[in-house]
Amino acid sequence: MLENEGIMNKNQWLNRINGDYFLSQPKNSVYVMALYAAHKPNTEKELVTLIDSHYKTTCQCGIKSKGTLKMFAQKLYEAQSYNDLAKQLFALKNKGEICTFEECFEYVYDLYVRSTIKKAGPSQSLSLETLKQKLPTLIVEESNSTDDLAFAVDIVVKDKNNNILAGVQVKSNLYESKTAKNAHKMNIEKNQKFQKPVFYLIYEKLNNGKIILKNSDSVVDDIYSLILPKNFDKKE
Ligand SMILES: [Zn+2]
Repeated sequence: MLENEGIMNKNQWLNRINGDYFLSQPKNSVYVMALYAAHKPNTEKELVTLIDSHYKTTCQCGIKSKGTLKMFAQKLYEAQSYNDLAKQLFALKNKGEICTFEECFEYVYDLYVRSTIKKAGPSQSLSLETLKQKLPTLIVEESNSTDDLAFAVDIVVKDKNNNILAGVQVKSNLYESKTAKNAHKMNIEKNQKFQKPVFYLIYEKLNNGKIILKNSDSVVDDIYSLILPKNFDKKE
């Protein structure tokens, strides 16, 4: 088995080290999707700052990071030496070198930051932009982290007087699957505490990577129905 390790490329090698020593498990790092959900960073840079600050200070969201991104990279860098034989074999096939700190940093950056923003960002911003466009007379804004954690609400819709009308939760079409049922139940319990209707906006990621919203019209209708008198034709 070890003979094959030498032909691993650097990325596979770091994957292996990361996996063998459980470096990216939340107990050793940070539960980055929870951090994303709590604070909704818009950029990679914002997410890096969040990871670092959740190590250095205590945030009311309750998430604690076990280190800064640089510390995660350092741990990975050092873990390359834990198994001397594996290290020698890998180094042998790679001109005597293991991965540098910079390469380790690039790896953890990809794992925690780049992939998270790529995964979570587009559906959130598409939902926000679509609802803003379709509800031009209302205020549509991202929920703050408290609303998100306490009520499972991603987007808040208000009237012009700043009265909250409804909450919107953005979910993947995979959300209705059996494995997600528990999460669903928990969300509904949270939604009920919001004291305003919460609608579910469903997105689907197509095979070509494009993200589409599946029910934005019906969510918009539901929201309008909260404010329009009965029999009012919203198209005028
Ligand atoms: Zn926080």
